[in-house]
Amino acid sequence: MPKQALECLLRNSKGILQSSSSTRICIRWKNLSTKAHIEGARERADCVVIGAGVVGLALARELALRGREVLVLDSAPTFGTGTSSRNSEVIHAGIYYPHRSLKAIFCVRGREMLYKYCSEHDIPHKQIGKLIVATGSSEVPKLNDLMNRGIQNGVDGLRMIEGSEAERMEPELRCLKALVSPLSGIVDTHSLMLSLVGEAENEGTIFSYNTTVIGAHLEGNKFCLHVSETKQLENSNGKFLLHPELVLIPELVVNCTGLSATALANRFDGVRSGVIPSTYYARGCYFTLSNAGIPPFNHLIYPIPEDGGLGVHVTVDMDGQIKFGPDVEWIGGIDDISSFLNRFDYSVCANRATRFYPEIRKYYPNLEDGSLEPGYSGIRPKLSGPQQSPCDFVIQGEDTHGLPGLINLFGIESPGLTSCLAISEHIAARFLR
Ligand SMILES: Cc1cc2nc3c(=O)[nH]c(=O)nc-3n(C[C@H](O)[C@H](O)[C@H](O)COP(=O)(O)OP(=O)(O)OC[C@H]3O[C@@H](n4cnc5c(N)ncnc54)[C@H](O)[C@@H]3O)c2cc1C
Repeated sequence: MPKQALECLLRNSKGILQSSSSTRICIRWKNLSTKAHIEGARERADCVVIGAGVVGLALARELALRGREVLVLDSAPTFGTGTSSRNSEVIHAGIYYPHRSLKAIFCVRGREMLYKYCSEHDIPHKQIGKLIVATGSSEVPKLNDLMNRGIQNGVDGLRMIEGSEAERMEPELRCLKALVSPLSGIVDTHSLMLSLVGEAENEGTIFSYNTTVIGAHLEGNKFCLHVSETKQLENSNGKFLLHPELVLIPELVVNCTGLSATALANRFDGVRSGVIPSTYYARGCYFTLSNAGIPPFNHLIYPIPEDGGLGVHVTVDMDGQIKFGPDVEWIGGIDDISSFLNRFDYSVCANRATRFYPEIRKYYPNLEDGSLEPGYSGIRPKLSGPQQSPCDFVIQGEDTHGLPGLINLFGIESPGLTSCLAISEHIAARFLR
């Protein structure tokens, strides 16, 4: 941990941490073992949230509001540099997910909480509504299925309309039928995260950036987190011999590390075997519309979902900028250290536009040649691979993995942004003693 961060952490900790230590703690990951090789002072803490993405931030706020002392650790220099800054910024209604799944429950509850939170905290957002469109007759039954699923999930206001009505709402749109979802909307994610950080800090939460969790072990029934300076990892040339500068012994630890969550959990010594799922990575690229004139659409326009994603859709951001995406490109994983350092490949290859044009023209035939410009990309941490059925969010407590005080969040892909407040509420209600 950088000296200033550690000092700041200790200075501000109001007794969460009791002592600084210059003692080095040496852990040999592969052949080691834990207790015998770990020496030096340990620091106690109340609640530690690993990862300052939108989910970790929402959780830190929730725990702090419930009177807990919270410490947030993130390997990056600031909050929200991972998937939370690389998504569609859509507040989903809750249509797509199987009935009674965590995704369905958290999305519906999270959407309600998020609109309320945004209104009360002046977070830029708009309930602009969404049209999910069938462009061929074979897609109409799928649209009906989506509508039925949405109704089952408790999504209000859904209605099916003919293409002609959809085209009156959106003159550039071409489709046979459309499912109207009036509860869908958009949010300025950065403002949301800033607000969550501010509230958490006001309640005494300490944020330590440039601080990476590299593993953990169990001593008796105490879960001991191995914490290191991010710079140490950057200089380690990918080697597994790491020297944590701090061993934290919290009452509660929540692993909210998004893309790295399974890699990190696999580094927790003592975790029950076979319980950590595999993560598959699906990159999604966005292209923006270059000819800045009047935006062609006012609603979110989504095609029928595809394998791995929701289809190349139209999103409008808070400034009225139109973007198309994300597509689905399955990519290989990277080593643990690179993953902790967010060294994923986020480049958007301009050539991918050739696949976007025909997809988009199915519902927006007037899209002009040469009008798409590479935007940005995000990566989905999926628990199912290509051609496999989609998986639900996974929240694991001690009963599953056997490590007291640890909660793992896995597969927090879409609708994780929409769900962040509901996930936090759930964790606090289920795991706080
Ligand atoms: C292309 C795309 C589009 C999406 N669109 C939407 C949408 O429109 N609506 C919606 O609801 N959801 C959407 N999502 C999902 C949503 O973005 C995510 O569910 C959400 O951002 C996940 O937040 P998180 O806090 O779990 O993870 P992240 O934002 O990835 O945060 C994880 C944090 O952990 C830190 N970290 C990693 N390893 C370590 C370590 N070892 N030690 C310390 N810190 C560590 C990272 O630096 C990072 O800050 C989309 C996702 C993608 C990829």
